Amino acid sequence: MLRYIYGYARVVSAGLIKNKIILRYITCKFCLFFFENSMKCVLIIPDGCADLPIESLGGVTPMSYATTPTLDMLAGEGLLGTSLYVPKKMTPGSDVATLGLLGYNPKKYYTGRAPIEAAAQNISLGDSDWAIRCNLVTIDNSNKTKPVMKSFSAGHIASEEAAELIETLNKKLVPLSPIPIRFHSGVSYRNLCIASNCKTRFSKSTLTYPPHDYADKPINSAAPTGDGSRVLQTLMKESQKIFENHPVNIKRIKESKLPATQIWLWGLGQKPIIPNFGVQFDQPEMKCAMITAVDLLKGIANLIGWTNIIVPNITGYVDTDYAAKGKYAVNAIKEYDLVCVHIEATDEAGHEGNVEKKIYALEQIDKHIVKPIYESLKNCGDEWRILVTPDHPTPVANKTHTSEFVPWLLAGSNIIKSKTKDGYNEKSAEKNAKFTFKEGWKMMNLLVR
Ligand SMILES: [Zn+2]
Repeated sequence: MLRYIYGYARVVSAGLIKNKIILRYITCKFCLFFFENSMKCVLIIPDGCADLPIESLGGVTPMSYATTPTLDMLAGEGLLGTSLYVPKKMTPGSDVATLGLLGYNPKKYYTGRAPIEAAAQNISLGDSDWAIRCNLVTIDNSNKTKPVMKSFSAGHIASEEAAELIETLNKKLVPLSPIPIRFHSGVSYRNLCIASNCKTRFSKSTLTYPPHDYADKPINSAAPTGDGSRVLQTLMKESQKIFENHPVNIKRIKESKLPATQIWLWGLGQKPIIPNFGVQFDQPEMKCAMITAVDLLKGIANLIGWTNIIVPNITGYVDTDYAAKGKYAVNAIKEYDLVCVHIEATDEAGHEGNVEKKIYALEQIDKHIVKPIYESLKNCGDEWRILVTPDHPTPVANKTHTSEFVPWLLAGSNIIKSKTKDGYNEKSAEKNAKFTFKEGWKMMNLLVR
């Protein structure tokens, strides 16, 4: 009983009590308590799918334009609203936005990108350790006074080649380092450096710069600054000599591929102290699972006590196996109380500025993920809820993330129907919004409480 009272108190404190819907929602929750039904929840995240109106689509967004019959039906059968998951002054990346979406105030819990990626690799960080993202990059030094970031991914270097370079760093760069470090290879250019026992060496004043923000640009102003920046600069510089005549690079140049000319250190942070999801929502027994192809989401799942379900043939790109994701999610619903399906394809299409790919990804998500999940929930015999929401917009016009509100839909047992025929898209969610969450991290209360 207490957890429900606590839950209502939080919703009330969110300033939503004015709304009649909430009163009915509260009544429903009391009914749920008395009937002790178990609840199956599914969260679907089409990463970065929210967009802006596009002229070539007749002035509508890809979400409006795409044929998504199940999502549109659910919009009428459920509630619509908007949320802002990225707090002001924070960078609108999936790391920050997903934390907010999952019910954690990023201002309180976000400590950096690298610690989340370390969690994805099951690298446990001690209290005095720092995780540092270590890209393999290609710098064009032909103009000595104005070096340029030719590739933030060393031409999307293969994981096997990256692993060889990282191994060499462990042999040759680690002994030169003024602080204890160890390199860990990841996928392709995305690797990690863990600095141990150096709690005060770095701090919030240590500023580093994401290499993808400098694509084809001079890097003169992108050197780390603040506490410990000298160490980072030294490691980056020394790596140039180690990589210069490395067999991996000699082979890549022969194959007309870009060599990895050095490492690029950024996104550092310490271990985040994040409460377990069940504990956060006063349901410690709750069993949750994540389906995603992306390390960042896997890392967040590990940090909040979720199980990562491995699905074969998913790529984190537009060519992913949507049906496999749908199938694994339907199976997972039997075992877990909450299943999250994250799809990166929509975000990648946004980064490429490719409208067609975004529309295609949305239609595949509707057909192969939302539809089978909805049908399975409808027949599961338990109470159920489904929440669909992107983490942030990735407009094709911008080719990058923006800090704007995103549309969400929530449907299922005891959820008031919007009865809208406008479907699930940015405009409809704004027009029919019952709730607008400026502090997006409060939104998750509606799904699980
Ligand atoms: Zn993105």
